[in-house]
Amino acid sequence: MKTLVQTTRRHAEHRPDTPAVLCEGRTLTYAELHRASNRVAHAIRAAGLVPGDRVAYLGKESEHYYEILFGCAKSGTVLVPVNWRLTAPEVSHILQDSATRLLFLEDEFAKIVEGMPTAPPETVVSLAAWEEWCGQHGDGETEFDATPDTPVAQLYTSGTTGLPKGVVLAHRSFFAIREALAGEGLDWIDWRPGDIALVGIPGFHIGGLWWATQNLDAGTTVVAMRAFEARRAVDLIRDLGITTACVVPAMLRMMLTEPGVSGKDFTTLRKTVYGGSPISEALLEESLAVLDCEFAQIYGLTETGNTAVCLPPAAHVPGGPLMQAAGRPYPGVRAKVIDGDGRELPPGAVGEVCLHTPARMVEYWGLPDRTAETLVDDWIHTGDAGYLDEDGYVFIRDRIKDAILVAGENVYPAEIENALESHPGVAEAVVVGAPDERWGEYVHAFVVADPGQPPSPRDLHTHLVPRLASFKLPARYEFIDSVPRNPSGKILRRALRDRFWGDTARKVN
Ligand code: ATP
Repeated sequence: MKTLVQTTRRHAEHRPDTPAVLCEGRTLTYAELHRASNRVAHAIRAAGLVPGDRVAYLGKESEHYYEILFGCAKSGTVLVPVNWRLTAPEVSHILQDSATRLLFLEDEFAKIVEGMPTAPPETVVSLAAWEEWCGQHGDGETEFDATPDTPVAQLYTSGTTGLPKGVVLAHRSFFAIREALAGEGLDWIDWRPGDIALVGIPGFHIGGLWWATQNLDAGTTVVAMRAFEARRAVDLIRDLGITTACVVPAMLRMMLTEPGVSGKDFTTLRKTVYGGSPISEALLEESLAVLDCEFAQIYGLTETGNTAVCLPPAAHVPGGPLMQAAGRPYPGVRAKVIDGDGRELPPGAVGEVCLHTPARMVEYWGLPDRTAETLVDDWIHTGDAGYLDEDGYVFIRDRIKDAILVAGENVYPAEIENALESHPGVAEAVVVGAPDERWGEYVHAFVVADPGQPPSPRDLHTHLVPRLASFKLPARYEFIDSVPRNPSGKILRRALRDRFWGDTARKVN
């Protein structure tokens, strides 16, 4: 199996002048990326770091991010990309927890580091002083070599389910799936010479890092935005002739609702890869119609090295039975569903989805007990509720912790949100469980109405009655301006739910 150590060297030999990264008007060819990342690796070692040390990056996407990514791989250090939207105490937690020794810092975020309650790492390198820091180091080949099991990245989960945990990923997480697809000649997701790939998901999230590394390993051209912006993404697709894109459903929605956007903006796209959160059938069908290209859904977690399951293009048939599936496991990946006692459930029964994948994490950094709970006999327990069908397709209902317990019945928010979003007057919907004396919890729906045709609660109720069992129907509707999401497009459900529960602990099923 390959590792990220050789990626740039291979392409620097075979396609030195092919653009590897385009970022906000700057171009880095494969030859330049190779030399620049060699230089970063030498500079990291000269700063006294040894293999296994943690190197953090706090900044938006830039060509330096990619130089640092490969520089870390080539020096044996482990990259900790930090979400730049975090507060000073949150960043402090990540830097402390990871024992980061060197921090690459974009000046825009210097205030965050100054405001940390703890001391900064021993070396802080401002991206503005890039040349000064690494300019004097050579760009010749590096000596460090890695195995597929050498740790190379440590990503912090966004903490939508608790304190962020550092997920340690080795090189194999970035190659196992690509090699399995190639080995079987499957083009569920494929990377072709000459592809120009849009990276919509930020690089501090596994989705963005995974997509960028897959493309750079394949020798395509990666187009990175400093931060996702829907109008800009559409313009880039049209103006640069982008052929592939990886986005979360919220990004698709934003691109489609940009004023003036039409199918003409997407004519060069041949494949869109999407995932990271549930997608409503209404949004998926609209995306298929407007983007008019192949679609592949990916499902997985940071802990599974991103995707373990894929819904191939052929399964994307509007109105077809698989439009609500997350997909099927890749070759070499297995999926099973278990009940609360760990017993495997038959097809159709809803329980916790577990995944056995060669791309799985090494561990949660410094958390052996949490690792043992999540990684059991090499199976990742995902915390997602779902079921398998007879053909082995995985259907995800939602996170187990987000299930709403109404009179003893589990209600999964995504199903209700999906049904609400099929109403033409609903732009977006989120439901949460709120306390109810009689039934334990009731379903509370937050709705972002389409300003052109805002529905009334009665309209919505009438729309849902034939679609959902009565215990799943929202008891209250509340109209809001926008849905709170984290940068990787996940609904910040807790932010909406906490209002109802205050200090009362909510029972988690
Ligand atoms: P935390 O675990 O702290 O909440 P996080 O939300 O950032 O952090 P990720 O690893 O990014 O963690 O997210 C993984 C979760 O995203 C999955 O467990 C699942 O709930 C959801 N998810 C990912 N892909 C899909 C998909 N295709 N369909 C439905 N849900 C998905």
